[in-house]
Amino acid sequence: MSLPADLHMHTPLCRHAVGEPVDYARQALAAGLREIGFSDHSPMARDDFDNWRMYDRQLDEYVAKVRTAQKEFPQLTIRLGLEVDFLPGHEDWIWKLAARHPWDYFIGSVHYISDGWDIDNPAKLSEWKKRDAFEVWSAYFDRLTQAAESNLFEIIGHADLPKKFGIRPAQDCTPLYEKFLNAAVKSGCAIELNTAGLRKECREIYPSRELLNLAFDRHVPITFGSDAHAPEEVGMNFSDAVALARSVGFTETLKFKQRQPESVWL
Ligand SMILES: [Zn+2]
Ligand SMILES: [Zn+2]
Repeated sequence: MSLPADLHMHTPLCRHAVGEPVDYARQALAAGLREIGFSDHSPMARDDFDNWRMYDRQLDEYVAKVRTAQKEFPQLTIRLGLEVDFLPGHEDWIWKLAARHPWDYFIGSVHYISDGWDIDNPAKLSEWKKRDAFEVWSAYFDRLTQAAESNLFEIIGHADLPKKFGIRPAQDCTPLYEKFLNAAVKSGCAIELNTAGLRKECREIYPSRELLNLAFDRHVPITFGSDAHAPEEVGMNFSDAVALARSVGFTETLKFKQRQPESVWL
């Protein structure tokens, strides 16, 4: 049984990843993968928005790097995607980004719950201490629901990112998950099983089994992503992610070409 496509990996253009796309591709073949997709952090309308993404002028260079990997490794299917931050008010910018290259898919992610706070940024961990955890989770899932409703994305990234540092609310988050997943059903977007969570303080795949159970009940499709920021992370812990998905009941996974989904057996 071959491993599912790894649709979430980065390049050095985002300023916090190492290794060129050809290095990720080589590692993918060594790990037994048949398909990967690059989804580096997209530019923002303003280049000074933050310091962990490519500049707008580098978008063509990003696409060229992925094309080089495609040419050098014809035996591996390599897709062209982006991980795009969803922020309310940025929808027009994202539509324009979509028109600039023939993308295979967009992963919509929420890292920012306000213009100034990316909740997964270790440099801003002190912000968590100023707020109630449930307040942060609620704000995050409100935005994630909007991202799912926006019709801008094929996949919603790391759907319970606020657990990254292991800070969890005491309250029941089921209603937050349900609202988000109902929006995903309505717009037809998938959610990813992202193994990077296993490498963070939460020590758990994003999203949790609890959220995955609710997704399965609603027939929300799934994809897989390592969120690799270095070649050796490509396909990392994929057997764990597949085991989790199967134990929840999933038997299929999606891959994308030119923004069209194709379902494959898991
Ligand atoms: Zn990153
Ligand atoms: Zn992300």
